[in-house]
Amino acid sequence: MVERTSRVKFIANGVKKRIYYHPDGSPTKPLPADSYSLRHYLAKGFTLEPPKRSFVCENCGKEFDFAIALGGHKRGCNKK
Ligand SMILES: [Zn+2]
Repeated sequence: MVERTSRVKFIANGVKKRIYYHPDGSPTKPLPADSYSLRHYLAKGFTLEPPKRSFVCENCGKEFDFAIALGGHKRGCNKK
């Protein structure tokens, strides 16, 4: 049984879990959210909120949330 307590936090079988974010902004699968696990995952470089980094195309100035999206865009953008 899963009880959602917020957008990224919930309780599954009595275990508090939440979504973390990788440095590239992609979300993790639900991971334990007790204080020990929290410290462990944050030390690994995960964050509680998606990083507000944007990737900008130096050719046209368009911004993307993910490096992979910018990469895909640039393949078409550089072709004139
Ligand atoms: Zn571009």
